Amino acid sequence: ILEWTLVLLEQGLLLLIKMGQFFPKERKSIQNLRKTEESIDWLRSWKVTLFSLLEAVPVNLRPLIASISIDGTSATTIIIDSNSGEPLWRPFLYNESCPDALPVVKSIAPANHTVCSGTSTLCKLVSWWNTEGENRESALLLHQADWLLWLLHGKLGLSDYNNALKVGYDPELESYPPWLLSQPYSQLLPSVQAPGTSIGYLKEGIRTEFGFPKDCVVCTGTTDSIAAFLAARATEPGKAVTSLGSTLAIKLLSTSRIEDARFGVYSHRLDDKWLVGGASNTGGAVLRQIFTDEQLEKLSEHIDPMEVSPLDYYPLQVVGERFPVADPKMVPRLHPRPQSDVEYLHGILESIARIEAKGYSLLKDMGATQVDEVFTAGGGAKNEKWTKIRERVLGLPVSRAIQTEAAYGAALLALKGAQAQHNEQ
Ligand code: ADP
Repeated sequence: ILEWTLVLLEQGLLLLIKMGQFFPKERKSIQNLRKTEESIDWLRSWKVTLFSLLEAVPVNLRPLIASISIDGTSATTIIIDSNSGEPLWRPFLYNESCPDALPVVKSIAPANHTVCSGTSTLCKLVSWWNTEGENRESALLLHQADWLLWLLHGKLGLSDYNNALKVGYDPELESYPPWLLSQPYSQLLPSVQAPGTSIGYLKEGIRTEFGFPKDCVVCTGTTDSIAAFLAARATEPGKAVTSLGSTLAIKLLSTSRIEDARFGVYSHRLDDKWLVGGASNTGGAVLRQIFTDEQLEKLSEHIDPMEVSPLDYYPLQVVGERFPVADPKMVPRLHPRPQSDVEYLHGILESIARIEAKGYSLLKDMGATQVDEVFTAGGGAKNEKWTKIRERVLGLPVSRAIQTEAAYGAALLALKGAQAQHNEQ
């Protein structure tokens, strides 16, 4: 799944690419997937799509493309041969877990570090390292965005500090930590730049084939969710974006860094600030289990958002919550159901708002900057009654973010890189 957008910003046209993923519906164990033919040729499909997107840019606009950046799904891990650039393994997708590597990773990393999760990039690397006998010497690790950008600029072994966080990079020290560097597989780690750093010009062959300008630069990217935050242009500490999609995710710009793997809370660096966040399992997916989108709209019209709902639910699709309460055994609570669907929906929306408020309060307790304004993204953002309920429950101004597309955020990074390049000249 891949989207592109052309956006006219102050500096001209930027090509923005958002790379998504899908995963076979029926989850198999990673060991099985590795062996089977089911391991779809992801890399080829991503490459083909990238170039079909370049092809799709209207010919008359191509000479105006000043800069390119790409965001990719965080923790999508690609291991390639550093000499040939050829893949040594099929990619590890973002949500694949490598529990086999977790005990090893936990034994070397500080307690509750971001890498201490089976889906972290480091667990994927360790799992590969322990399984693969050959090719270790020449191997190199890249993330999805790094790999796609490499196809465009041709310099192998570069990443950004947002993508590299889940492999253990420390964006505060601007280096990999000693406990990681002392491991034999540290030789696979890419070198890291700030997101939106101009890496170089678009490869000549691509430039001439497609008609992009001579000085079109390619910049380091970021992860999908950070790009979506950047799109909302919440640039001051205390500004936050709540994403009300299938799940509830909150992201807050903070002057201090906080981290706790138990709650899935970690901080991404954004220049001189920190983007802290957490994700709950509650959200729109539960609403969709009960109501259609049309019902949601109709019923919401009859809700009085100023009225406090007496109903107290914990809407979850399945057992288990991670943030703001780390409880894998938490049971969904959606009863008692009142006769009136309006009251029921009101109770659910208000309960989700309370979970959101608890999320921001937990981030503050952990040491993050106090939130003072919330922008909203995702399918729930259009529900004005819910926005009003959330304003009351959070005690904060809440509004819909104007831009929420990750591709727009990647464009802002491309702009940053183009500006820096321009200033240098
Ligand atoms: P995702 O990208 O995570 O799948 P979206 O951002 O597309 O999710 O949002 C879809 C969610 O929005 C659905 O789960 C649905 O319940 C919710 N949704 C749709 N319309 C409304 C509405 N009017 N009020 C509240 N939630 C809504």
